Amino acid sequence: MSFTSLGLSEFLLKSLKDLGYEQPTPIQEKAIPAILEGDDILAAAETGSGKTAGFTLPILERLVKALPPQGNLVTALVLVPTRELAVQVEEAIRQYARFFPRKLKTLAVFGGVSINNQMQAMRGGCDIVVATPGRLLDLVDRNAVDLRAVTTLVLDEADRMLDLGFADELDEILDELPNQRQNLLFSATFPKGVKTLTEDLLDSPVEIEIKQESTIPEQLVQRAIEVDRNNRTMLLKYLLKQKQWSQILIFVASKRTANNVEMKLYRSGIQAQTLHGDLTQTERTQALKDFRTGRCKILIATDLAARGIDIPNLPCVLNYDLPRSPADYVHRIGRTARAGEIGQALSFVDHEGDAHFKLIEKRIQQQISREQIEGFERSKDIPESVTAKKGKAPVKGKRKSKKDKLREAAALKAQNDAQKQ
Ligand code: AMP
Repeated sequence: MSFTSLGLSEFLLKSLKDLGYEQPTPIQEKAIPAILEGDDILAAAETGSGKTAGFTLPILERLVKALPPQGNLVTALVLVPTRELAVQVEEAIRQYARFFPRKLKTLAVFGGVSINNQMQAMRGGCDIVVATPGRLLDLVDRNAVDLRAVTTLVLDEADRMLDLGFADELDEILDELPNQRQNLLFSATFPKGVKTLTEDLLDSPVEIEIKQESTIPEQLVQRAIEVDRNNRTMLLKYLLKQKQWSQILIFVASKRTANNVEMKLYRSGIQAQTLHGDLTQTERTQALKDFRTGRCKILIATDLAARGIDIPNLPCVLNYDLPRSPADYVHRIGRTARAGEIGQALSFVDHEGDAHFKLIEKRIQQQISREQIEGFERSKDIPESVTAKKGKAPVKGKRKSKKDKLREAAALKAQNDAQKQ
């Protein structure tokens, strides 16, 4: 199958050729013709499957025939869960649209940066807006954006969006949109929240499911290294010196660990950067940019970087801390070995993480043989803290999100205020 046979115009074929895409990925093969037909789509697609081009190419194809935007109207709206993805998807769209016959206006809208620039950029309308829900609603509230002319809505990483507690904001956005529109929903998994959303949102959608085997590519080598918890930084330093990876993405469980590990490496003369939610948006963007361009060789990140972020030629991902869920594991390691490249994913497995790693293996249906590195062998004795804790692993999804807590506090305050009156 070729891009030409999918019915794409010359201006798109030209940019695909420039990008070196030889043929469509399975998701593109199925999604592009259906979207061109005007159908709603429900696609099970992971990041790395080529889904961004899967929805962008047909949207661009249809936009050629549409009128340029006016006022502060938007023609196509892509909703994403994180700021980084908003930037990345908008950049990808601009790449695919390089030879668009007229000047195409696209905009990434996300929080954590000044709203004024985004308000100004919205003037004259936009062909495509890629947005995180909260900031988009701020713009709607300020009458800076009008969503009543949206013809196509894309929900990217829908499972993630609901996981992050966007349900209410999504509802508010849907209220702003016209009823007549095309809806394209992409989700790695279909938990209950997503299922309900799809029923309310989609009109006889074309369902696309790409076989899950491709989730962990064959050329991605997974390794599990047993080590004591308090020996992990020493081992990390040793591996960095020994292996001399051109670049490595190190995942940790918290912002504090990210900063700690960075500091410890720094004291040993190893330069690294961090990426986590406590940094300003400018710092986050800069860290990613430095990593993408190769200026930064070692990036220590929380799960903020696990989803969707596309770093070309990344040879190694290391789980310094194990991720909370098997799905996050797949997302993290999927940052390497993309688009046919070779990659390695290392996981430090301490006694505390043993049971959890077994669960991950069970879910991904793969067994990864355990290794020990000479000089850093894991002690035979299982710490008491582990034996005492057994059976008390935290349940994902049961913890209240920051937003839930804020909502609860607001409800409590309203209740108290009402009682006072
Ligand atoms: P995505 O799943 O949209 O994040 O895309 C993953 C990566 O695959 C990106 O680096 C794209 O540039 C690349 N890609 C998308 N479609 C193709 C294609 N048909 N051929 C080669 N690479 C592609």
